[in-house]
Amino acid sequence: MPISRAKISTLKPWDIALIGIPFDDHSSFLKGPSNAPPLIIEAIESDSANYFTEDLIDLEDHPNVCWLGNASLRDYFDIESIIAEILKRGAIPFSIGGDHSITYPILKAMSASYSNLSILHFDAHGDLYDSLDGNRHSHASPFARIMEEGLSQALIQVGIRTLNDHQQTQANKFGVKVIDMRNWSPDIELNLSGSVYLSFDMDVLDPAFAPGVSHHEPGGFTTREVLRMIQKLDLNIVGLDLVEYNPNRDLNGITAMTAAKIIKELLAKMLSLNKSF
Ligand code: MN
Ligand code: MN
Repeated sequence: MPISRAKISTLKPWDIALIGIPFDDHSSFLKGPSNAPPLIIEAIESDSANYFTEDLIDLEDHPNVCWLGNASLRDYFDIESIIAEILKRGAIPFSIGGDHSITYPILKAMSASYSNLSILHFDAHGDLYDSLDGNRHSHASPFARIMEEGLSQALIQVGIRTLNDHQQTQANKFGVKVIDMRNWSPDIELNLSGSVYLSFDMDVLDPAFAPGVSHHEPGGFTTREVLRMIQKLDLNIVGLDLVEYNPNRDLNGITAMTAAKIIKELLAKMLSLNKSF
């Protein structure tokens, strides 16, 4: 049996709803992430591996983990209403992107359900541009929109290694805590309280571990470092996304498999933290 299939209308409270967001219109450099979601689910269900997480939670046909398939989107702004529908069922949305621009409409829906949201953001890039190439919805800009609209009260970014003058100014303006890659250490504390949204850009990994991304930025995390951080998290996570897998750049599907592994460990974390299961 694979990962359970479901529709939004059949979601139960506290289900973790995996939903594909096949959208890359706001990618600045290369297209490709719109094709990512089903390929990542295929990797989770690959016969080359099993469904157990490292702490022995069996995700096969798990009653609280549901794959909703790709969202059908007429435009970018439909993302907000689809996430709002999932939240209305009391479920936890886990969006599989898509480029990083999707996090802004997702946060519009999240902030309507949760006040005092904080964001934990893994990325090689700050994605704080006021606009890029004249596009204020660029995948390089979602956190500028989120912070200026007050959709989140705090933003911590981990793994950043591409700051420039403009983005440093933006980070200061919005009070963003940037844990850049060169100052990161495994025992660093991620002090976040209240409800937390986790946004994971695949390019936070070193391109040696995840070549299937549009922007190769050397000097990033190993897969094991990321898994250790995930396994150590003790936060009230109420929504997640994993974005920027670009299958056109992948080598033998290794990045899809790495995305699958990270999703499995994030699901394990969610299932172990949520006392209502
Ligand atoms: Mn990003
Ligand atoms: Mn990035």
